[in-house]
Order: sequence, then structure tokens, then C-alpha cells
Amino acid sequence: MIHIFSERCIGCKLCERACLFGGITVSGKTPMLTDQCTGCGVCITVCPKQALAAAEHKEVLQHSNLDAYRGILIIAEQREGVLHTVSCELTAAARQLADQRGTQVSAALLGQGISGLAERLVAHGADTVYIADAPFLQRYRTLPYSRILSSLIAELRPEIVLCGATTIGRDLAPRLANHFRTGLTADCTGLAIDRDGTLLQTRPAFGGNIMATITTPRHRPQMATVRPGVLQPQPVRSGSGVIVPLTVTEEPSDDAVQILKTMPKDKPAVSLEQAQVIVAGGRGLGDGKNFTLLQELAQVLNAEIGASRGAVDLGWIGHEHQVGQTGKTVRPKIYIACGISGAVQHLAGMQASDIIIAINNDPYAPIFQTAHFGLVGDVHVIVPELIHQLRQ
Ligand SMILES: Cc1cc2nc3c(=O)[nH]c(=O)nc-3n(C[C@H](O)[C@H](O)[C@H](O)COP(=O)(O)OP(=O)(O)OC[C@H]3O[C@@H](n4cnc5c(N)ncnc54)[C@H](O)[C@@H]3O)c2cc1C
Ligand code: SF4
Ligand code: SF4
Repeated sequence: MIHIFSERCIGCKLCERACLFGGITVSGKTPMLTDQCTGCGVCITVCPKQALAAAEHKEVLQHSNLDAYRGILIIAEQREGVLHTVSCELTAAARQLADQRGTQVSAALLGQGISGLAERLVAHGADTVYIADAPFLQRYRTLPYSRILSSLIAELRPEIVLCGATTIGRDLAPRLANHFRTGLTADCTGLAIDRDGTLLQTRPAFGGNIMATITTPRHRPQMATVRPGVLQPQPVRSGSGVIVPLTVTEEPSDDAVQILKTMPKDKPAVSLEQAQVIVAGGRGLGDGKNFTLLQELAQVLNAEIGASRGAVDLGWIGHEHQVGQTGKTVRPKIYIACGISGAVQHLAGMQASDIIIAINNDPYAPIFQTAHFGLVGDVHVIVPELIHQLRQ
């Protein structure tokens, strides 16, 4: 039931003290199970050296020598031959982490007819791009993609694996993490690395009321997903990289799920993620009808309309306009927040905007701590004046 890796034991006897049944004794640096062991697993959780493991995890732990893992692997993503922007954002972020750690960045890209996309990943910082190019990989399917990526990860042993928090990434990453019995932090808003290579994965927690930094200290690879638009895109570099084609073959099990038909999604009426300027309204507008005022301002500025969840929940505007933790993540050049208090969940979706202008009649509203420019006053007075001035 319990497997002992004696060579890892330091003789601290924590397991012996933690066991309520007298199930383990430690002599010097040699732990031994007794007949009293019930297999409850408590000793596994207290052992600081991973010298104890449940028998079914034995194989995973045998390979969990943390020092054997090096480098960062990005799971890049394409649809219809178009590279997803999050793949470039992740590669650029990985480059910075890898430079601090003195290690390499690899990217894996699966699909059909996609070899031409590898150069873009190199330009964003990848040292090596692994390409699996085959007809059966044309469209994303969980089983073949996770099978191929699992064997690539097993071979490369990257210290860190990063994935976009997209529909595909959210399907793929948990499967890979489960395969390697490692941790996964979903929807990170920040990544950093410490001196011993621990990935510091920051994300909102407890309903967005705190920012938690999560680590995976005892397992490798360390895995995280990051939402598109959250990481700062970096300028394209002129470095060189190696492109490695992978030999892949289809397996009968890949057909467990077949794609019968695909239909293009209707183009969204609101494209907040691409907008250069966003005028967003909150509960401070006082009434849903007052969004017409913001629409007027948006027209003058050629902007899109955003909203706080407060305004969306009141039914003043559709959810497709919501910005924030449970809405969209945006990064426009200018974000004008009108009658929005600046709750942490709203900030999570817009604080990376280049310039934030806040209009609020409460000088102590939290939004002013994030805004680059603040206008204290009634939104119904300031916005018409703004429109007037801009039209002139
Ligand atoms: C799990 C979870 C997820 C969430 N996700 C999101 C999310 O994705 N996006 C989001 O926005 N929120 C989200 N929220 C809700 C968030 O906590 C806030 O409740 C919400 O952002 C508040 O919206 P608001 O700023 O419009 O309203 P309020 O907090 O009520 O703020 C209204 C502001 O308008 C100002 N005001 C009032 N009258 C005027 C006036 N005449 N002129 C100028 N200013 C005026 C007030 O001073 C006030 O600051 C989430 C909450 C939870 C728990
Ligand atoms: S598995 Fe439970 S009973 Fe067995 S040695 Fe560990 S703590 Fe004791
Ligand atoms: S807790 Fe782990 S390292 Fe410490 S004595 Fe027990 S098996 Fe050995």
C-alpha cells in the first residue's frame, strides 16, 4: 500500500510521529512499515523528502527528481491555421522567466499545414518549436492532442508547462496535469519565478477578494494556464530558433470522439478585446437608459462600450459587455470608467490598459487608486462636457 524510497529518507521520524497506528518505524535512515499500517496515507503528507508514496503513485514519484526537469514548454494553439495571440503572449513571458532562470523556452504546436507558424513563436522568444503536422490533428481533439503532448512532456521533462486559458487550454491542461500527477493553477494573472525555479502563480481567489500566489513545490512539471490578453506582449525579437518536426501516428483510440461538423461562430457584435478605446459604465450611471450617453461618447472616440458587473446584473446592458474577472480581459490604449467603483474583480479585467481615466463623484472610490487620470464629479455633467469638447 505504501511504497518506501529509502534512499531519500533523512531519518527525521516525522512519519513515525504522525502515524496514529504505529504503522511505521524509522531506524537511522531506514523507514519500515509494521503490520499495524492501515494505508491511511498520513505519513506521505508529512514526509519532507517524498520518501513515501502510495503504491499506485510509485511510478510517478520515481520520476519526480525535481532536478531532472529543465526549461519551459508552451503549449501553443492555432485554429484554422491562425496562431492564437495567447501563444505569443505566453512565449514572450516564458522568455523572460527562462532568462532569469538561465534556461530554454520550447513551444509545441499541433495541427495540419502549420509549419509556417513556428517562426512567429521563435520571434516571440522560443528557442525550439516542436511541430506535429498531420491530417488527423487538423482540428483539436482531446485524445490525440493530450496523447502526443504527454509523450513530448515525458521526453523533454520541462520544469514548467504553460497553456492559454482558452476553451482548448482548459480542456487540455487538466488532462496533462492529471497524467503527470502534478499541480495546475488555472487562469493566472501573473507569473514569476524564484531562484530555485519555483513558479509563482498568481490568481484571484476567494471570489476575487484576495490575490493568491500558488506554488507546486514537490511535483514537476509546474503547470499554469493564463487568460488571453493578461500578459504583456513583447516586441518581436530577431533571434534564431530550431524547428523540430515530430513523427506522429494516429491511434485507433483517437477516434473515440469524432468531429461530425463544425459551424463558424457568429462574429461577436462587441469586440472588446480588440478595442483601442473603451468607454465603460457602472451602477453610477443611475439607470440603464444612461448608457446612451456613453454610446454618444463612444461614437466620438470610435470606442467600444464596456460595463461593470453591477450594471450587467441590473440588466442595463448585456453580459457580452462585462469587463472583469467573470467578464472579458481587455487591454485598450484608453479605458474610461464612468460611475464604476473599481472593485478588485473589475480591475482584474482592465488594469493592464495603457491609460485609465475614471469619472466618479466619490473622491475616495477605489478606482482612483488604479486610474492614471481621475475626474471627481457627476458622470451626467462630465460626460456631456467631454463630448462637447471632443466634438469641437
Ligand atoms: C466572484 C465575483 C466575480 C465578479 N466579477 C466581476 C466582473 O467580472 N466585473 C465586475 O465589474 N464586477 C465583478 N464582480 C462584482 C464586483 O465585486 C462589484 O460588485 C462590481 O464591479 C460593482 O459594480 P459598479 O462599480 O458598477 O457598482 P458600485 O460598486 O455600486 O459603484 C458605483 C460607483 O459609481 C459612483 N457613482 C454613483 N453615482 C455617480 C454619479 N452620478 N457620477 C459619478 N459616479 C457616481 C459611486 O461613487 C460608486 O463608486 C464580481 C464579484 C464577485 C464576487
Ligand atoms: S499509511 Fe497511515 S498507518 Fe500506515 S504508516 Fe503511514 S500513517 Fe501509519
Ligand atoms: S518523514 Fe520521510 S524522511 Fe522523515 S523519517 Fe519518515 S520517511 Fe524518512
